[in-house]
This record gives sequence, C-alpha cells and structure tokens, in this order.
Amino acid sequence: MIPTTKPLVIITGASSGIGAATARAFAASGYPLLLLARRLSDMQAMNLPNAICRKVDVLDRDALKSAVAEAEAEYGPAEILINNAGIMLNGDPTKQSPEEWDRMIDVNLKGVMNGIHAVLPAMVARESGTIVNIGSIAGRKTFDAHSVYCGTKFGVHAITETIREEVSQKNVRLITLAPGMVATELVSHSTDDAAKTGWLAYAESIGGALLPEDIAEAILYACQAPQRVCIREIVICPTRQQP
Ligand code: NDP
Repeated sequence: MIPTTKPLVIITGASSGIGAATARAFAASGYPLLLLARRLSDMQAMNLPNAICRKVDVLDRDALKSAVAEAEAEYGPAEILINNAGIMLNGDPTKQSPEEWDRMIDVNLKGVMNGIHAVLPAMVARESGTIVNIGSIAGRKTFDAHSVYCGTKFGVHAITETIREEVSQKNVRLITLAPGMVATELVSHSTDDAAKTGWLAYAESIGGALLPEDIAEAILYACQAPQRVCIREIVICPTRQQP
C-alpha cells in the first residue's frame, strides 16, 4: 500500500472501456480503488497503485458486499461508487431472445441497485458520499433496436434521481452520467448483426465515437467538485452525434 490521503473509490465494470479509463483517471489523481468485474486479469493488467481487484459479478450481492468490506478495511470508508457495469444487447424486438432482455435488466438495473445497496446505508449514516450511476443518452431518448436497453437506462435515470432526492438531506450525492456513443466493447456483445453494424456504421459516419477517457474525465470532474455541489446529470455525446 502506497500512502494516500484520498478516500476509497469503487468502480464496477472496471475491466474494459469506460470503467477501465475511469480507474486510470482516479488512480492518476491518487485515489485508492476497489475494481470489480468478472475478468480479473484485465483489471490486474492495468497494474494501478493502491488498487484491489476482485472478480465479482454485480448480480452477486454477497460477493459485492464482502469485496467492499475488504477494501474498506484497507482504505477506510468507500466515499465514491461508480456504478458502471452494464451490457447492451441490441436487436429487433420481434426476434430478440427474452434471455437477452433478462440479462440487460439484471445487469443494468439490479446490478446498479446492488452497488447502491452495498454502500448507501453507510454513506447516509456518516452524511457523506457520492454515487455515480452510468446511464446513457438511451436513458433520455429512444433508439431503434435498443428497446430493452433504453428501458434499463431510463430506469437508471429514474432510480438515480429518486434516491438523490431521498438522501439529499444526508449530504449524499447521486449523479447520472449519460454518455452518447463511446468506442468500447459494448456493442460487440450484440448477437443481432444488423443492429451491431448499424451502430458501428453510424459511429464511423460521424467521425468516430467518443473515447472512454472523455467520459472518465467528466466523472472525475463531478466527483472532485466540493461535496456541497451536486452535478445531478451529465449528458456527454460526440458533437456530430445527431439523435
Ligand atoms: P464495456 O463492454 O467495455 O464495459 C462493460 C463493463 O461491464 C466490463 O468491464 C464488464 O466486465 C462489466 N460487466 C458486464 N457485466 C457484468 C457483470 N455481470 N458483473 C460485473 N461486471 C460486469 O462497455 P462500456 O465501457 O461502454 O460500458 C460501461 C457503461 O457505459 C455501461 O453501463 C454502458 O451501458 C454505458 N454506456 C456506454 C456507452 C457506449 O457507447 N459505449 C453509451 C452509453 C452508456 P466483465 O465482462 O469483465 O465482467
């Protein structure tokens, strides 16, 4: 452990994309980290200082809570949670398997709630803390072939704003960070080739998607604002992204 005065930051889905970039950004600013995802080696390969990496599925509430307890024993209370783990399985609703709907609902909604459950009571008790939930532009407006994904992200926005109001008197911040198109692995998991190639072709037509680092910098900015400042929502898209 390298000496640090910064509080513990937890990042779910830290093995790739936005989560990995956010881990690097917070590490560069001196924060100790608890990094969670299923691909342990990808998190360990970043070789970040003061970073505990644990193989945790966000659907496993017990594993999530015990990883948080382990990291808090080392670095003190978790002051920031970045609820980032998520999946996007785009598809034609007349053809898509309901199992894909289940997986998106589970990871994108229950996974976010499980993260909140692991840290919120202690944040409220000590009257300090920040939770950033990664929503989406697809949580603000609808997109073809994104029906259930949009449903989950509209849900993330609703959950975040509701709990923000509920805990605001306890000095705890909830922030929705809603990205537009970002160049990550996200779209690659869709099994519907038309939906996948449509997403990639549109990104190319606008000169490319954002970089994960663009989102990481915005998350860091919102978290480093004084605790009296709650940036409730950030929507951040490529300039040329029209919808
Ligand atoms: P990636 O696919 O690169 O990253 C997703 C991360 O989530 C991975 O680290 C993955 O890790 C993790 N994850 C997935 N399922 C689980 C699970 N069950 N338990 C734990 N971790 C899990 O995509 P992005 O970086 O783009 O996605 C990050 C967030 O940003 C998501 O919530 C996504 O919806 C959102 N977003 C992304 C946009 C984009 O255009 N890329 C736009 C708007 C929002 P592992 O597989 O190792 O478990």
